[in-house]
Amino acid sequence: MKQLDYIVVGLGIAGISFCEQLQKNDKRFIVIDSGEDGSTAKSGGVFNPTVLKRFTAAWNAAAFFPVAKKFYGTISENLESHILQETPVLRIFKCVEEQNNWSVATDKRELQNFLSSEFLKNSNSAIEAPFGFGEVLGTGQIKTKKLLSGYREFLNAQDVLLSETFQYELLQQKESKVFYKDFSASKIIFAEGAKVVENPFFPKHAIVGNKGEYVIIKAPDLNLEALLKGPVYVIPMGNDIYKVGATYSRDDYSLNPTESAKDEILSKLKTCINYSFEVVGQTAGVRPTTRDHRPLLGAWEEHSNLVFFNGLGSRGFLMAPLLAVILYKHLEDDVPLLKEMNIKRARTWKKI
Ligand SMILES: Cc1cc2nc3c(=O)[nH]c(=O)nc-3n(C[C@H](O)[C@H](O)[C@H](O)COP(=O)(O)OP(=O)(O)OC[C@H]3O[C@@H](n4cnc5c(N)ncnc54)[C@H](O)[C@@H]3O)c2cc1C
Repeated sequence: MKQLDYIVVGLGIAGISFCEQLQKNDKRFIVIDSGEDGSTAKSGGVFNPTVLKRFTAAWNAAAFFPVAKKFYGTISENLESHILQETPVLRIFKCVEEQNNWSVATDKRELQNFLSSEFLKNSNSAIEAPFGFGEVLGTGQIKTKKLLSGYREFLNAQDVLLSETFQYELLQQKESKVFYKDFSASKIIFAEGAKVVENPFFPKHAIVGNKGEYVIIKAPDLNLEALLKGPVYVIPMGNDIYKVGATYSRDDYSLNPTESAKDEILSKLKTCINYSFEVVGQTAGVRPTTRDHRPLLGAWEEHSNLVFFNGLGSRGFLMAPLLAVILYKHLEDDVPLLKEMNIKRARTWKKI
C-alpha cells in the first residue's frame, strides 16, 4: 500500500490549481483523471475580471486577479509553454448610452485598473461597431489545450497521474484515512467539474450546471487578434479560426451540439461581423455552476476527509488559483472557509 497525503480526482483547472499547492508544499499525491474533456477543455479560456454586460467587476475580482495572473506566469515557466496570452477584450458599444455607462464605470475604484477610459474607434471593416469599443486591460486567453496536455505530461514525468475513471465503489474510509486500490491518503479532493453529479458522496442538489456551446468559424478576412465581445465572444484560435459563443442553457445537460444553439450564435454573430465566414465545427460543455454562483469548497460531512473543489461556474480561470490556496490552508492549517464558498451552505438549500 503506497502512503500519500492526497488523492486528487479530476484534472481541470480546479485539479491543476490544487496540485500546484501540493507541489509547492512537497506533499505526496496522485491524480486520477479520465482524460475526457471537461469544462476546462471545452471553455473559451477567457481570463477577464469584469462583467461586460453591466460594466461591473466580477465577484472578488480584486483578490482573484493578481493571484491568477501570477499563477499562469509561474505555470507557463514550469511547463515551458505560453499558457496565458495577454490580449485585450474589445467590448463593442451598442449606443452612446453604453459609452456613457462605460465612462461612469471607469471611475469606480474596483474597475480603474481594468477598463480603459479611452474609447477605441473601429478600423476593421469586417466588424460592425459604429460606436467603437471599450478596451478591457489585463485580460487574456488561457491556452487550455497547452495547459491540459502540458500539465498531464508534467505529472506523467513524475509518475503521479493515473489516466482512468475513478471508481467510487472502491473507495474506503478507515481510521481517518482513505483507501483506493493500492493507495492510502489522508484526504481525497474531488475536482470533477460538472461530472461530480455522478459522485455518490456529493450532495447532487448543490450543482445545477449550465450547458454552453461554441460555433467554430473560419474567417480569413476578420484579421482579429483581440478578444471581441459583442452579443457573443469572438475568440481568436490562430490560422483564421475563431470560437464564437457561448450559449447558456439549463434545459439540456448532454454534450451534444444543438441546431438551436448554432442558430442563436450565428444570428448574434451576424450583427457584429459583416464579412463572410465558414462554419467548421461546434462544441458543447457543461459549466459546474451552483444556485448562488459561488464555489463549493470543503467537506460535506463534519470532519470528513472527502473534500470537494467545485462550483467554479463560468469564471474558473479567474477563481481557481486563489480558491486552491484557500482550500489548502483550510485543510492544512484549519483556516475556516468563508460561508459564501463553503459547500456546507448548500445544506440549507432545498433539494430539487
Ligand atoms: C462552453 C463553456 C465556455 C466557458 N468559457 C469560460 C471562459 O471563457 N473563462 C472561464 O474562466 N471559464 C469558462 N468556462 C467555465 C470553466 O470552464 C469552468 O469554470 C472550469 O473549467 C471548471 O473547471 P473544473 O476543474 O472544476 O472542471 P473540469 O474542467 O470539468 O475538470 C474536471 C475533470 O475531472 C475529470 N473527471 C470527472 N469525473 C471523473 C471521474 N469519475 N474519474 C476521473 N476523472 C473524472 C474530467 O474528465 C475532467 O478532466 C466555460 C465553460 C463552458 C462549458
